[in-house]
Amino acid sequence: MIKRDDLLNRDFSGNKARKLYHFLKGDFPSVKRVISHGSSQSNAMYSLSVLAKMRNWEFIYYTKHLSSYLKNNPQGNYKAALQNGMKLIVDEHFEKERLRDLPQDTLFIDEGAAVKEAKEGIKLLAREIEDQYRGEELEVFLPSGTGTTALYLQKYLDFRVYTTPCVGDRSYLFKQFAKLESDKSSYPVIIDTKRKYHFGKLYKELYEMWLELKASTKIEFDLLYDPVGWIAIFENLERFTKPILYIHQGGLLGNETMIKRYQRRGWHEDIRER
Ligand SMILES: *Cc1c(COP(=O)(O)O)cnc(C)c1O
Repeated sequence: MIKRDDLLNRDFSGNKARKLYHFLKGDFPSVKRVISHGSSQSNAMYSLSVLAKMRNWEFIYYTKHLSSYLKNNPQGNYKAALQNGMKLIVDEHFEKERLRDLPQDTLFIDEGAAVKEAKEGIKLLAREIEDQYRGEELEVFLPSGTGTTALYLQKYLDFRVYTTPCVGDRSYLFKQFAKLESDKSSYPVIIDTKRKYHFGKLYKELYEMWLELKASTKIEFDLLYDPVGWIAIFENLERFTKPILYIHQGGLLGNETMIKRYQRRGWHEDIRER
């Protein structure tokens, strides 16, 4: 079973909409701008640009690196965020510690929206799942970046939650959990893929998994996290004891860039021919 959080809203969807819910709905009378940082292709960057637009806030985003390719060929999250009015600051020496003493009118949201406030929207996701599947037996799976979504989902959900690290390894993910929540008894179960996939790199088997999912489910998944997530499930099927509910966390705008990269690799055509 798939929970289609990618369909929440055309512009504001997936787990970033869940994580930023607090900032969308809350009362912030003195706030005039939001500042964040991270990669120039990030799904979180795009969702923050939508949030800022909806709330009429200025959006300032720091990144350490902007490739000349992306700069000259704006696309995906980067292009859409700029169209939403994002002010991008490229600074290879950026350190978030510098943003410690911000004025009252400025909100800082850490990279990937890995913040405690994310729990508010993820709690709603947990409620929805519980309402939808009341009385049924199931286990939940979602792939992790910062692990914020998986962590809080398990915190508020009675069903067991499984996840796999897509950025870094299991010890990185565990540290991320510990930053947000000290109670280890409510951490999700971490499963691993046999092979180590470096985040954002191109792997033929990830692309093949993505194509296979599209063909068999008629659902487009994200190309960064979801193929790793599905491989983790298939490689660890014996760990699951109940039907699996997979959370589709959106991020489809970022696929444009990834598909183009796979096409430039030549694998795209390769795979179609077979
Ligand atoms: C951001 C994102 C994730 C990772 O979410 P975390 O809460 O950082 O673990 C997973 N899938 C998609 C599609 C995302 O955009």
